Amino acid sequence: MAALQQRDLAADAEGISDGHHHPAEAATDAELRERELREQLRWREREARLRAALAAIDAGTYGVCVDCGAEIPEGRLRALPDSVRCVPCQRVASRRP
Ligand SMILES: [Zn+2]
Repeated sequence: MAALQQRDLAADAEGISDGHHHPAEAATDAELRERELREQLRWREREARLRAALAAIDAGTYGVCVDCGAEIPEGRLRALPDSVRCVPCQRVASRRP
């Protein structure tokens, strides 16, 4: 049993090293830098949304769609606490370039 497990582990390790040797798997420095920048941008966007939500709480407009003024469903707010639009308006806004 122990010998069988060892053989399985060796096979797994071989599979991993094969992956690293594949040229398509190797990311270039430029790709890594781009990925990092995109990650930073995503965090900055998220921070901006959270700030907007906090400002809305201060203004007493939290949970109200900024586009149509309708109440944002509680379930949506619970899933996405920084939502500033109702579902249909968000769908329209996401389609905007
Ligand atoms: Zn709306």
